[in-house]
Amino acid sequence: MYEIVKTGDPVLRLTAKPLNSDEIQSEAIQQLIAAMAERMREAPGVGLAAPQVGVSVQLVVIEDRPEYIERLSGAERREREREPVPFHVLINPVLSVEGEESAVFFEGCLSIPGYQGLVARARVVRVEALDERAAPVVIRAHGWYARILQHEIDHLNGLLCVDRMDLQTFSTLENYDRFWRGG
Ligand code: ZN
Repeated sequence: MYEIVKTGDPVLRLTAKPLNSDEIQSEAIQQLIAAMAERMREAPGVGLAAPQVGVSVQLVVIEDRPEYIERLSGAERREREREPVPFHVLINPVLSVEGEESAVFFEGCLSIPGYQGLVARARVVRVEALDERAAPVVIRAHGWYARILQHEIDHLNGLLCVDRMDLQTFSTLENYDRFWRGG
């Protein structure tokens, strides 16, 4: 149950349903959150949206662990503005872009395994959402965390990163390392 679904599954193209406060605190949703955290960590990935485990509700989990970031060079970390993000849950998120700046980096998706491509994203975003106890949260994020938020919240609107990708750069991970990594 709650296996990660891959591109081509129609659930990834639906607009996900919002959750009310009773639903959020239900056993079913709390179990969904626990299962998504597990799937994200075993993948491993830095974010997972409920439609990616076949459940069309407005819920994402995010976690960017220090050990993932240690694999990058100092230059890669600085360019990407990538810093650890503790585990958290966002429900019914509403995202707005702040400022005009964008950033273009290779990005992949657990539902399109084995590939990456260049995706332009806003550098700074603001997100209003509910947490796993249905309490309101407001996040202002920049850099890689802002990218993760945009990617995951796109999933709730039936969008995949390939919809925003420069498809001429669409690469296998092997070819990303061989031809693209490090510019
Ligand atoms: Zn994804």
